[in-house]
Amino acid sequence: MSRTPRHAGRRPPENVLREVGERYQAEVVIPHCAVCSHPCCWLDPLVLELNWKQLKTIWLIDEPRAAFDRRLASGKGPADIRAGNGLYYAHGKACPAYDGESHACRVYGQAVKPAGCSDFPVYEDGDVIIADLRCEAVELEAFVARVAQAVGPAFRVIPSADRDFPFMVTLTLRRMPGK
Ligand code: SF4
Ligand code: SF4
Repeated sequence: MSRTPRHAGRRPPENVLREVGERYQAEVVIPHCAVCSHPCCWLDPLVLELNWKQLKTIWLIDEPRAAFDRRLASGKGPADIRAGNGLYYAHGKACPAYDGESHACRVYGQAVKPAGCSDFPVYEDGDVIIADLRCEAVELEAFVARVAQAVGPAFRVIPSADRDFPFMVTLTLRRMPGK
């Protein structure tokens, strides 16, 4: 029995992509987090982008921002934090909100959780969807097949790896002629 994808021809591709990304996170990625051999929350090799409120809350910083920035600039701040463009970047040490025993995020479901955490490792960006292969739960071929099934036969799904960061793969949709 052939099944017509639920969204084919009825909704714009970007909605389909967002939904397929969310389903993939829920059905494939999150169930694997508990047994992941290299959690992204170790922030190595990943870099986490934070605003001041997120940094202050997650890193339990109790001084004013100006004082923290001065300390950071003088080399006496946390070694895993860099500042730039009004934001902060954490790298090289596990996120303080990561509970290594339960493999869980202590700020899960809270507004302070950085957007980059929820987007990783697959996220829709306009009319494309991006998969970050640094997450061991992501199997590119299966993910491409899942996207293809979701968008239906009217579209061809074309994966392409970033030239500088080949672990970032963009899936582009191309409408098939006559569809
Ligand atoms: S790398 Fe992937 S599987 Fe591992 S903890 Fe992060 S999201 Fe979960
Ligand atoms: S905020 Fe939570 S999900 Fe994000 S890196 Fe820290 S522990 Fe992981």
